[in-house]
Amino acid sequence: MSKTQSTHGVLYIVATPIGNLEEITPRAVRILREVDLIACEDTRHTKKLVNHLDINTPLTSYYREKEQLKAELLLQQLQDGAQIALVSDAGTPCISDPGGVLVRHARAAGIQIVPISGPSALATALSVAGLEESGFYFGGFPPSKTKARRDFFKCQAPLPCPLIFYESPHRIQHCLLDALHVFGDRHALLFRELTKLHEECREGVLSELSNSCAGKNRGEFVLIIDGAMQQNTDKPEDIDELILWYRDQQTVSLKSAVQQIATDLGLPRTQIYQRALILWKKGNQNNL
Ligand code: SAM
Repeated sequence: MSKTQSTHGVLYIVATPIGNLEEITPRAVRILREVDLIACEDTRHTKKLVNHLDINTPLTSYYREKEQLKAELLLQQLQDGAQIALVSDAGTPCISDPGGVLVRHARAAGIQIVPISGPSALATALSVAGLEESGFYFGGFPPSKTKARRDFFKCQAPLPCPLIFYESPHRIQHCLLDALHVFGDRHALLFRELTKLHEECREGVLSELSNSCAGKNRGEFVLIIDGAMQQNTDKPEDIDELILWYRDQQTVSLKSAVQQIATDLGLPRTQIYQRALILWKKGNQNNL
């Protein structure tokens, strides 16, 4: 059966505000009003949005822990002809949010899938970051445990483009400290509460930003860290010169420099540490 003859319903993937409730497109509002069902992460959360928009469409929950089961149930309804909108708590579904399982099931079943574009914290932060590069790396949420988070960052350390991450208020400081440990004291931007009343952008090196997050934090964060090449265009390739370059031109500790050089050259840290200890001491008694 061709698409025009299909009796299947349509799955709409609808972006909703990341804070400011004015930031939803007229098309999104119309679709949310017209569909048979809205699948959302937390019905209490989305209830506030639909009440605000004066929409009476029924809601059903669709969240990460039950994604497989709920995707199968929704797929059955789509195959029976239902028009369904999928939303997340904030921003664009499927960007660090559930939705991917349903989209894949629907595509495999030949259901039409229509994106209703709109806000995303990623695009919002990028729009005011002032980056000159056309590319970037988006890492979503870093792992929550230190070892896994450092290993995750190590994979990104050589990338020459800006690195972008999402983070929650209770993990932001540990995340920044681990980023400092792996990347060295790179320049970064930290956005908080985008589109909301207490929206802010902090700019500085990672040590400054982690200090600024000491204690209790509120709000949601997007972190943009300079890529390797942005600050390292004059970086030498020889091991001794590289050690001296980190010592003299980058404000990093010996430990961070060793970590960074190990990543740069793909050599074991122990090998670099022995050499770095000798050279570092010669010219710099601080920052060991
Ligand atoms: N799907 C969403 C999107 O399109 O941006 C992201 C969902 S993810 C579960 C939530 C994370 O996005 C937060 O922890 C934070 O890192 C980021 N975020 C969402 N809203 C934000 C805001 N208003 N300001 C800053 N970051 C935000």
